[in-house]
Amino acid sequence: MNQRRKMPKSLYAMKPNELLGALHLEKPFQGRQIYRWLTRGIVDYEKMTDLSKTLRSELQESMPSVLSTTVLTHQEDETGAIKIALRLHDGLIIEAVLLTDDKGRSTACLSSQVGCAMGCTFCRTATMGLERNLQAFEIVEQFVHLLHIDPSVSHIVFMGMGEPMANFDEVIKAISFLHDSDGFNIGYRRITISTCGLVPGIKALGELNLPIKLAVSLVAADDKLRTLLMPVNKAYPLTEVKEALVGYQATVQKRFTLEYVMLKEQNTSYEDATKLASFIRGLDVMVNLIPWNPAAELAWETPTAKEISRFTKALEQMGVPYTRRHARGKGVNGACGQLAVQARGRNTQ
Ligand code: SAH
Repeated sequence: MNQRRKMPKSLYAMKPNELLGALHLEKPFQGRQIYRWLTRGIVDYEKMTDLSKTLRSELQESMPSVLSTTVLTHQEDETGAIKIALRLHDGLIIEAVLLTDDKGRSTACLSSQVGCAMGCTFCRTATMGLERNLQAFEIVEQFVHLLHIDPSVSHIVFMGMGEPMANFDEVIKAISFLHDSDGFNIGYRRITISTCGLVPGIKALGELNLPIKLAVSLVAADDKLRTLLMPVNKAYPLTEVKEALVGYQATVQKRFTLEYVMLKEQNTSYEDATKLASFIRGLDVMVNLIPWNPAAELAWETPTAKEISRFTKALEQMGVPYTRRHARGKGVNGACGQLAVQARGRNTQ
């Protein structure tokens, strides 16, 4: 190993043979050994006990950390949700959240971008604007940090900061790394990509035809209202989103989720339910109702329990299948749409 050669920023998101090249090693088994440790969440060379002592100290010398990110803060709320802020190699900060449900199942909620360019008016991340895309290793590292907190984490959702379909290649690269059965071995069915409705991304995911779960943030089934709430609707209006979803379902043949953030007196009327019922015609979907999680800098309100139950009754009448998402992570501003950090320096909470 020549220690003066350039080292990568991270050892994650690389296959064993890529590790060999990146670390200027010659023996293929060393790549496989390092890969095996990394995908068990071991990031400390000293613990990679089947590497020779010499190699371990050479690695320590030339690349002191296998990770490009460091954990800045760690916050837990009363639901057990844990939000971490990570500093990236260039000083930018992102957040990732660990959520545990009633059955004790742990889900890693990962970010795909630093900030977001989509401008959804109800989402706190949108207030940051877009700083940059994350690279695959930065996505994988979020999972690794969460795994250190909870070794039983088994599911992944791309519902953190950013629009995953706007960073498609790196997100897919991260997913295939996390999926590899010789590595973290997370089944595709345990991974969900959530999108605000970027049609080219939905089409590209359909073409891959993998059993990755898809969630589409619909929020409104009326073009005028949706454009007001989600400017992305101007570029990809409802008919185009629906057409892409029909095509997606024809190939992938899997039920997907429509996320519907409920905003007080905005999108929960009887008429809104009718429009939603008409949008889902011809699609096999589950509507996930999410009461809006407050963000101090945004003017929307959460609907009352009465308003929500009127809306769900209407959906039932119209035969729209739905589930209610119970907010977890609110206590640490880690629930859907609450992630935001100042571009550099401290995170906002
Ligand atoms: N950009 C992707 C993924 C990130 S947002 C997308 O739009 O799907 C993840 C989910 O949180 C989306 O369904 C989004 O509509 C929802 N969301 C955003 N802000 C919210 C808020 N303040 N309260 C509740 N849900 C919110």
